[in-house]
Amino acid sequence: MAEIIDGKAIAQKVKTEAAQEAEALRQQGVEPTIAVVLVGDNQASKVYIRNKMLACEQTGIRSLKYELPQSASQQELLELINILAGKKDVHGILVQLPLPQQIDEQAVLRSIPPQKDVDGFHPQNVGCLLTGGHPLTPCTPAGILRLLEETGVNPAGKHCVVLGRSNIVGKPVSILMLEKDATVTICHSKTKNLASMTRQADILIAAVGKPKFVTADMVKEGAVVIDVGMNRDENNKLCGDVDFARVQEKCSVITPVPGGVGPMTVAMLMKNTITAAKMQVKHRE
Ligand code: NAP
Repeated sequence: MAEIIDGKAIAQKVKTEAAQEAEALRQQGVEPTIAVVLVGDNQASKVYIRNKMLACEQTGIRSLKYELPQSASQQELLELINILAGKKDVHGILVQLPLPQQIDEQAVLRSIPPQKDVDGFHPQNVGCLLTGGHPLTPCTPAGILRLLEETGVNPAGKHCVVLGRSNIVGKPVSILMLEKDATVTICHSKTKNLASMTRQADILIAAVGKPKFVTADMVKEGAVVIDVGMNRDENNKLCGDVDFARVQEKCSVITPVPGGVGPMTVAMLMKNTITAAKMQVKHRE
């Protein structure tokens, strides 16, 4: 039976670290603050924002919520971001994705000043990710790396197969694993002979968005399996991209869903907000 990574416990550890750093900032007269922006009435987005704001509360980070209607124009959103960008007492700006279709997501992400981009999605921060020295790393990939580190899994020299090439998970986690000296293969919907690829993985990271997509026959004996997926199964129960029950009998380490990668994403957002606040304080000194 595999070791099941307790993402909740590790996320708690990260939040405790962030809380200590938040307190240290307050001692210097700085109240670390994040502005979260929700456009429209996507129910999942509302839940994500609630979780993020709750984590802020637990960590001692001030969170300000801004809501725009589903019909909001791109211009309205850009104006709001511009106001938040100019506020010295706002250190992080997070625009919850997805955005309504009339709004160009990339234009919005580009409008957030890179030093306040706590999601790490601004092209400048993405560039830093590629070239090294990236203080604001996308939260889910950063959370995955921390899970591996806390579990004592060293990616160096291992073959890491990443399923998915999205900008928020697949691509950035592949770069981070490469930075940790793993040999990385990125798979996607056009990959041929997928199972033959995944069976080579010492570390398999699944970010596909399909319930129980990764079956036991796709996994090498003793592999480390990280499940990023957040899906609903046929009974509307939350499940990952991995067939957990079967795969855990074959692999050495696995993350559950829920309670694996999910809590880490929120915890790393707290870390990024503290990092952003520290950078801005330093810049003003
Ligand atoms: P996404 O943007 O939809 O990307 C999915 C990726 O999977 C794409 O690159 C796609 O390939 C690939 N894919 C789809 N079908 C495939 C197949 N049959 N074989 C191989 N690859 C296939 O999704 P995402 O935003 O990265 O999210 C992935 C999952 O992680 C979702 O369940 C999401 O809810 C979850 N998630 C969780 C967290 C968390 O905090 N736990 C954070 C973010 C996302 P193409 O590029 O070729 O289309």
